[in-house]
Amino acid sequence: MVAGALALAACAEPARQPDFVVHGAGVVISTDVAFAARPDLPGRVESTLQAALDYWGGGWGDLEGRTITLDGADHVVCQGVASAIGCFDGDIRISTSDMGEAFACVEQTALVHEVGHAVIGDAVHDDPRWMDFAPLAQRLEHRTGYRADAEVDCPIAVSVWRHPPRR
Ligand SMILES: [Zn+2]
Repeated sequence: MVAGALALAACAEPARQPDFVVHGAGVVISTDVAFAARPDLPGRVESTLQAALDYWGGGWGDLEGRTITLDGADHVVCQGVASAIGCFDGDIRISTSDMGEAFACVEQTALVHEVGHAVIGDAVHDDPRWMDFAPLAQRLEHRTGYRADAEVDCPIAVSVWRHPPRR
């Protein structure tokens, strides 16, 4: 019995049931950030994913069966790196916090970056699109952001999305 319990403890945590599903991708909300509690979140996630898929030349099939976790921690651990703000390792995890301050909307997070990995791979960020994002920013700007009980602007900072090639 003891051996059995140890074996269980060594297993990965079972994946949480998604809070909602977008075209076959499960979305898990693990944050108390304001935008994640808003009823428009599923639609905002869907349109953000659609814009990102278009930017990267992908389709919903690239995200089907994957889990997208919105994580309230400042950083998500990613393949040994403890300071990542987003991660793609088959599933996607993104921090909803920007250096300790909550993002005002899902569009501002690293989600569109991680979708890029889901579509093209390219872990070393060789593709020039990792340093561009202008057309994608245009498509996602001028949306509503949220603080506790207030609506605010949601300006896009492409610096959150960019990553220079690893050389
Ligand atoms: Zn990356």
